[in-house]
Amino acid sequence: MKQLPSLLVSDRAGNLFDIPDTEMAGKSGRTIHPVQAHDLIPLPDGSQVFMMPERSAIGFDRRTGRRKNFKDYFAVAAYIPPSYTHLAMAAYGMTERAPRLPLMSFTAVGWYRGRMYVPAVHIDREIKHLPTSFDDNIISNKVEAMVSKYPHNRLIAHHGRQCAVEYGCANAKNFFLQRWEAPIAVAGGCNANCIACISFQPSSSVPSPQERIPFLPTVEEIVEMAVVHLITAPKAIVSFGQGCEGEPLLQGPRIEKALREIRRQTRKGVLHLNTNGSRPTVLAKLFDAGLDSVRISLNSVQPELYHRYYKPNNYSFEDVRESLRVARTMNKYASMNYFVFPGITDSKKEAAALMRLFRTARPNLIQWRNFNIDPEWYLTEVCHDYRSPRLGVKKLMFLIQKKFPDIQFGYNNKAASVIHKSKEAA
Ligand code: SF4
Repeated sequence: MKQLPSLLVSDRAGNLFDIPDTEMAGKSGRTIHPVQAHDLIPLPDGSQVFMMPERSAIGFDRRTGRRKNFKDYFAVAAYIPPSYTHLAMAAYGMTERAPRLPLMSFTAVGWYRGRMYVPAVHIDREIKHLPTSFDDNIISNKVEAMVSKYPHNRLIAHHGRQCAVEYGCANAKNFFLQRWEAPIAVAGGCNANCIACISFQPSSSVPSPQERIPFLPTVEEIVEMAVVHLITAPKAIVSFGQGCEGEPLLQGPRIEKALREIRRQTRKGVLHLNTNGSRPTVLAKLFDAGLDSVRISLNSVQPELYHRYYKPNNYSFEDVRESLRVARTMNKYASMNYFVFPGITDSKKEAAALMRLFRTARPNLIQWRNFNIDPEWYLTEVCHDYRSPRLGVKKLMFLIQKKFPDIQFGYNNKAASVIHKSKEAA
């Protein structure tokens, strides 16, 4: 790359074009900064590129290096697909009319010799959640065939007609394509109040892309759906804790019964739980019943930022830390679902807190996931008084790998072969 990509902007009608004499910029926290050429990759297939309404575009003058704010043009951002972790968000200036943005991530994007480029790393080579892995024309037929075969199973119908067809959930589609990871939603309620929850938003906020499952599935429904998948799918995983539910640990006894029965019927595949990690004693019981792996979601490992974002009811960050520790003590596979918000995630304070956490409760895998939230919303509600210099997301990754080389990096839950290898190495 001979020069940095030029700034992409949008007019009010949504027409995108570049400004050749202006370099693209990135944003980390509240800081607007140049991007580094070695951080840029071509825009991955399956990305979406869109304008940020009522947010002015910002870039750097190629000749003087001065910052330029284009009040007549809107900023442009990219939503990059799972498996790619962003290193900087799109730079913008707020106007008074700026509406709250939907629950997506907003990666910086620029234009260079006929292509778009984004600051990002390809962190996971698996393709199971990539939009390019699906032919949506065949999903509806597959769903209806499975629903006719199991007409009594409400869970199969829910994951088919709601999740696969209406929400476009990759896990749900993969169940009907009989491959990889499949969802099992159980819990209608939650003990947290995450600001950017995708299954529940108070009416004054942004729309939630999914709704929580409207019924409590029976143990029989859970077992039937899980076993169908585990015995047929390659690299099979069944996952509790989906986007269309609340917190599965609140349904611990029901899931425990189901796990025991699933493992009585088959030893195949991985039994997995995505959770907020709020109830370590319940988690330990699920491990006893046959759960193989857990993924615990976190916006931050600094208790104050965690509490401001999760707004937990009757649990605290200490319980989350304990859940991670329990998983490793019981020799189970533990992932951290880490929401990457450049400027906060890679701040020096967060890095120090991470290193402290890993000394006592170390995950096997960090899933570096782009944080789907309006950046202004997060900064105002959670990080309003937060000050800490930034290291850069890549540098943070490098430091972790140097100090804790046994921690793997990725974006997706892992199949049995990876989990078994980690157990043998432990
Ligand atoms: S823990 Fe999950 S389900 Fe509960 S509020 Fe947070 S994002 Fe929503």
